[in-house]
Amino acid sequence: MFRILLTNDDGIHAPGIKALEAEVAAVGEVWVAAPQDEQSAASRSITVRRPLRSNEIKPRHFAIEGTPADSVMLALAHLLDFQPDLLISGINSGPNLGENIFYSGTVAAAAEGARHGIPSIAMSVAERADIDYSAAAGFAARLAKQVHAAGMPAGVALNVNVPHPSYGGVEMTRQSPKISRNVMLGGHDPRGRPYFWMHEEVPLDIAEPGTDYAAVRDGKVSVTPMRFDYTADDSMGELKDHLARWVQSV
Ligand code: MN
Repeated sequence: MFRILLTNDDGIHAPGIKALEAEVAAVGEVWVAAPQDEQSAASRSITVRRPLRSNEIKPRHFAIEGTPADSVMLALAHLLDFQPDLLISGINSGPNLGENIFYSGTVAAAAEGARHGIPSIAMSVAERADIDYSAAAGFAARLAKQVHAAGMPAGVALNVNVPHPSYGGVEMTRQSPKISRNVMLGGHDPRGRPYFWMHEEVPLDIAEPGTDYAAVRDGKVSVTPMRFDYTADDSMGELKDHLARWVQSV
């Protein structure tokens, strides 16, 4: 049997995970463990200062009072008595591209799946408003079948971003270097207190060819293989020499 664990960071009631479930239910047996409330930009945070609770809202559907990473960890450690064949996180409402993946709860859940040896996919629609999830959901179902048949390299997860509302081709991409600019939109609340609201500007015209941003800009599905070992192997030789001197000087 092909068993698929779904999670997301927009919450178990979000339209993206419902659209995803509707499509992948035709491919395998779906289990859902997802935060009960929105956890966007939760990154890979986990809950350690209070207990973690799970509510089975219907068979095989668990609403977790925690983060996306909590949801995956709890599902694998306790809620499921089997190792799922595939994990799909999403479908996120909004893109997860470039350096933004470091803040993403959607990507973090896929990272957590990969850490447990499960082929894992983060799915996002690269649009902010009035999202139609159908193209991304259909793509996810086809990709699920392929990954189930072919497997995934150990420790690797896929970060998939689907342009809106349809797409013209699929491209294997690299994660883009930082091109977005953080913007703090300022204002005053009804009581006159100032506030700041984090936003970003993305100058897509400077996106490098072969990157996730460029593919989505050009109307293609971006598929980026991700690894979560951040070791900078290419700097170790140079830094070893420095380290010898640092050690002498302290
Ligand atoms: Mn989200």
